[in-house]
Amino acid sequence: MQYKQVISAQHKNISLVAHDNMKPALIAWCIKHKDKLNKHNLYGTGTTGTLLKNKAGLDVNALISGPLGGDQQIGALITEQKIDMMIFFWDPLEAQPHDPDVKALLRLAAVWNIPVACNQSTADFLINSSLFDQEYPKSIPDYESYIGART
Ligand code: PGA
Repeated sequence: MQYKQVISAQHKNISLVAHDNMKPALIAWCIKHKDKLNKHNLYGTGTTGTLLKNKAGLDVNALISGPLGGDQQIGALITEQKIDMMIFFWDPLEAQPHDPDVKALLRLAAVWNIPVACNQSTADFLINSSLFDQEYPKSIPDYESYIGART
């Protein structure tokens, strides 16, 4: 696969997801960073997104609940380059019924070179990076070149 450069916009699309045991930590983190987060477009899986709206006062587009397909919805948005960053507090201490979807979402984030924070420390580093509020040139798979060379 070849890669091409694209610009990740200053105004970002950020997905927010937390497994049930991790939701209090994500809500607390979002309350702390509410002003910075609300400058961007926010997307969440159903329960996470609704809780963040109600408890953290964030303007979140709540999708379908994760175990019902919400992780796959976010994955689809990533493949369409409609998500620039993901804060995903997955639970390292409890098995999830939708583990294949969780793996698929993390895989797509890696494929499309999306910055991902899976814990509070990494989320702190991302939101305090000077790149958080800037345009960012990044490389993504160049499928057009790939298919063009084969057809
Ligand atoms: P939920 O989904 O926000 O609907 O609980 C999170 C997840 O993917 O487990």
